[in-house]
Amino acid sequence: MATCEVCGNEYEMSFEVHAQGEVHTFDSFECAVTRMAPICEHCQCRIMGHGVGVNGHFYCCAHCARTADPEGAREIRDAVPA
Ligand SMILES: [Zn+2]
Ligand SMILES: [Zn+2]
Repeated sequence: MATCEVCGNEYEMSFEVHAQGEVHTFDSFECAVTRMAPICEHCQCRIMGHGVGVNGHFYCCAHCARTADPEGAREIRDAVPA
């Protein structure tokens, strides 16, 4: 039995996530995402996929990167056929 570090729930099916040398304990993926997932700097959604990094900023997709930083993101493309 472990306690979720986000909501405090004690749950027998809780699990650990090892990231950047730290161990986090969660009772659900929702709590894990709340704690771990970066936030798109343009639309503020949780980045569940790979995301797009431009000049130290992080976005959920190429559209957000281009909208927020047209100069830096000029070369960014989503991995889909044009
Ligand atoms: Zn939780
Ligand atoms: Zn976004």
